[in-house]
Amino acid sequence: MPERAPFTTHEVENQVPPLEGRNLFEDNAPLVEALEREGGGWARERAREVGAAWGADPIRWGFEANENPPRLKTFDRYGNRIDEVEFHRAWHDLMGLALSHELHSLPWTSSRQGAHAARTALYLTAAQAEGGFACPITMTFAAIPALRAQPELAARWEPRLTATEYDPVLRRVGGSESDKRCALCGMAMTEKQGGSDVRANTTVARALAGGRGEYELTGHKWFCSAPMCDLFLVLAQAPEGITCFALPRILPDGTRNAMHLQRLKDKLGNRSNASSEIELHGAWAQLVGEPGRGVPTIIEMVGHTRLDCVIGTAAGMRWGVANATWHAAYRRAFGKRLADQPLMGNVLADLCIESEAATALAMRLARAYDEASHDERARDLKRLATAVGKYWVCKRGPGHAFEALECLGGNGYVEESGMPRLYREMPLSSIWEGSGNVMALDVLRALSRGAGGGWSPAGLPRRARRVGRRRSAARRVRRVAAHAVRRP
Ligand SMILES: Cc1cc2nc3c(=O)[nH]c(=O)nc-3n(C[C@H](O)[C@H](O)[C@H](O)COP(=O)(O)OP(=O)(O)OC[C@H]3O[C@@H](n4cnc5c(N)ncnc54)[C@H](O)[C@@H]3O)c2cc1C
Repeated sequence: MPERAPFTTHEVENQVPPLEGRNLFEDNAPLVEALEREGGGWARERAREVGAAWGADPIRWGFEANENPPRLKTFDRYGNRIDEVEFHRAWHDLMGLALSHELHSLPWTSSRQGAHAARTALYLTAAQAEGGFACPITMTFAAIPALRAQPELAARWEPRLTATEYDPVLRRVGGSESDKRCALCGMAMTEKQGGSDVRANTTVARALAGGRGEYELTGHKWFCSAPMCDLFLVLAQAPEGITCFALPRILPDGTRNAMHLQRLKDKLGNRSNASSEIELHGAWAQLVGEPGRGVPTIIEMVGHTRLDCVIGTAAGMRWGVANATWHAAYRRAFGKRLADQPLMGNVLADLCIESEAATALAMRLARAYDEASHDERARDLKRLATAVGKYWVCKRGPGHAFEALECLGGNGYVEESGMPRLYREMPLSSIWEGSGNVMALDVLRALSRGAGGGWSPAGLPRRARRVGRRRSAARRVRRVAAHAVRRP
């Protein structure tokens, strides 16, 4: 009789080895090709390093940071208000690696053409391991072009917002601004009565004496993610109308600004990241851009955030494909590997095509961001394709994640596979910064303002007809184009 350990009734067979220790960039052939094609080929080696790094420990950190979500500490043990959020060590590890790889800063610090394409490839690689940390990374990245509307503020904050050494120690009351090597930036626009319609904001801005662009903000924000950021771009009602402000969490003299954390959201996904509700009780803030021009000022931040929603979703799709194909390559059913079962081949092919398309779109979009400063057509494409891409790619994300999860069968439904976390994360990119309908309306707005190389809603049928006539277009694309002509 062979010796068996107690309670062992069987050999474990036909289970799939863990998907670990892979290079998340090199494994992703469509991304490798797109990096060359879209002008970021010079970052190839960096992307390989990032791929190797994020395919190792960060996958475990992602699990740990989600199993140990952030905790709000409103008061200290003596009853003093502290308004702090405590994170697990794994969260700080993720943030530290992200900053060291310049996911938040590369296009703002590099003078090389193709820096957006390079950063997109790095971000799309890293965000496969975990999605939550990407929120403050994106907001910090996206804040820079908006902050540049106020050059003296940008000069003061940009060096720290683009710094690559993460400082996990909160800058506590009493410290000076120079204590901290790096800074992170969040955004606070959404209020209880409306998020899409920010013109309905009720937070009030009162100008302080002296005319130096200093204000006091009073009101609330219903969603304010990553509340441990050092700076927030906030919309509030000034006498001239909705205006954009820069609000530091800790004031220049080291005291805490009057920004109070009410509670943290209990969210569907994105649980490693803290999203808070806040109140501003006469909080000190500085003007960004012109009074009354808050929406056009913050739109730069919004646009770059929407770009990252596309990239982040493409990253999630890629991770779904990696897990589904890995599983199907090892798991056997009915005498064959799952990957060799014809129907499973169809499912995997559909998943791959959708993921590759999202990657190609994200990278092409990044190139438009690279070229927009000197090319009018790129500027039009950036404006239009950000809205279309944010709508389409992010809307497809949850369904894609579900199909990938199902490829793993019951194992995919279990938390340890990571697939439930991916599935729960996916709807966020569609909701955040312009939910589906809002993006659809934004496409019309872009067209009516002439973006898309002179496109207009009225000109859409002509454009669609042209696509429909292209011999190279797949039959399905031609059919959709014909449909668009009938019902523009
Ligand atoms: C996890 C998470 C983190 C977030 N973090 C932040 C943050 O850090 N800072 C911040 O400012 N916000 C944040 N948000 C808020 C987010 O940006 C808003 O939830 C989003 O913009 C939608 O606003 P709303 O929730 O008020 O929905 P509403 O504006 O009420 O919209 C509800 C629905 O109506 C649709 N709709 C709206 N207008 C129209 C229209 N004219 N025609 C047809 N349909 C329409 C929308 O598409 C949506 O589906 C966060 C949200 C989430 C879920």
